[in-house]
Amino acid sequence: RKPSAEEFKRQHMDPDSPPNSRPTYCNRMMRRQGMTKGSCKRVNTFVHESWATVKAICSQRQMTCKTTRRNNCHKSSSTLHITECRLKGSSKYPNCDYTTTDSQKHIIIACDGNPYVPVHFDASE
Ligand code: ADP
Repeated sequence: RKPSAEEFKRQHMDPDSPPNSRPTYCNRMMRRQGMTKGSCKRVNTFVHESWATVKAICSQRQMTCKTTRRNNCHKSSSTLHITECRLKGSSKYPNCDYTTTDSQKHIIIACDGNPYVPVHFDASE
């Protein structure tokens, strides 16, 4: 599958919900956004900020990606409101059961293409 901003939005953007999510947030959102089809995606982060805010990170500090060693990652200069979803060890497909953890952290994303836009969520710290 070709990396795209639309895929990034589907998997990582939730600008309209507040950061103080309910414990069931990840179970609901991971299913709704198509990340529990065929298998349960193990870890995924949702960002509760505008697309303008996230897109702007592509012009912030460049660094080596933590997961791919490519050099097109960028770290946000500010902390952002995020929710981290992590598959529970006891979860059995097709019942994808996640822990929901809210936090405020810097995020590291990969950007690609022309226009240069977010295509992959690399890490948060
Ligand atoms: P995510 O990594 O955002 O959780 P995916 O696993 O679907 O979600 O990855 C999104 C896409 O970004 C994939 O097509 C992946 O190959 C691609 N990708 C991963 N790292 C980079 C990178 N450093 N630069 C460009 N594309 C990348």
